[in-house]
Amino acid sequence: MKTYIVGNWKLNFTVGESSIYLHKLMKALPNYRDIEMVVAPSFLALQPLSLQIDRHKMKLASQNGFYRDYGAFTGEVSFSQLRGIVDYAIIGHSERRHILGEDDKMIAKKIAAAVRNRIRPILCVGETESERAFGETADVIRDQLLGGLSEIGDDDLDKVLIAYEPVWAISSTKAAKLASPEEISEVVKLIRETIHEVYGKKIAEEMPVLFGGSVKPSNAGSYLITEGVDGLLVGGASLILSEFVDIINTAKRVKA
Ligand code: PEP
Repeated sequence: MKTYIVGNWKLNFTVGESSIYLHKLMKALPNYRDIEMVVAPSFLALQPLSLQIDRHKMKLASQNGFYRDYGAFTGEVSFSQLRGIVDYAIIGHSERRHILGEDDKMIAKKIAAAVRNRIRPILCVGETESERAFGETADVIRDQLLGGLSEIGDDDLDKVLIAYEPVWAISSTKAAKLASPEEISEVVKLIRETIHEVYGKKIAEEMPVLFGGSVKPSNAGSYLITEGVDGLLVGGASLILSEFVDIINTAKRVKA
């Protein structure tokens, strides 16, 4: 299986800055055939970057997308508009769940819309600090996982990637708030067991599961060797060229 390294730029970089960064990023990296390198710029930058990117080397993801293909939905961008521009879409990121109020029902419709438009969804799941403290992690992950996948047919499951992102470990500056490989492997195991139970062994084994939560060059290696982890979703460190390049090179080294 390929190793996936996805850079989530969030609400950062102008279109010009995105273009310059992408240029430097592509120049700094060789063509790694076993590493799927993906960046997720703002909606505005996606179209120009799709003309600039070398798709043999790197792919584009959107950070979101709407569940209807067209119509009276002011301010939204549909997956049908993103079709052909991006290969992946981040869906259900914790910032969208907790700041923008997206629920599993809406996320499920977005996953279906992405798949319908030939875009591979990266379904983000993760518990908050208090959910973990109250022993609710397993229930939360199960609900988000099965809720998010509820609108697609079994034939489309092989297009989906899962990103486990504990909310308490995102954008953390404190060592105590970093997820340990043990904590990650426990939840990744639960994700695969849940998929196995509902959809069968093959899809559970083959579905890529990424980890995200304050990934840096210093911890990327230990996360990448964590059992069941097939890649990383990187926020803050993906905005710093040297760090993102370092993380991708670490993936190449560790997964070789
Ligand atoms: C993210 O937003 O998906 C993320 C993991 O961010 P960070 O790496 O900054 O914690």
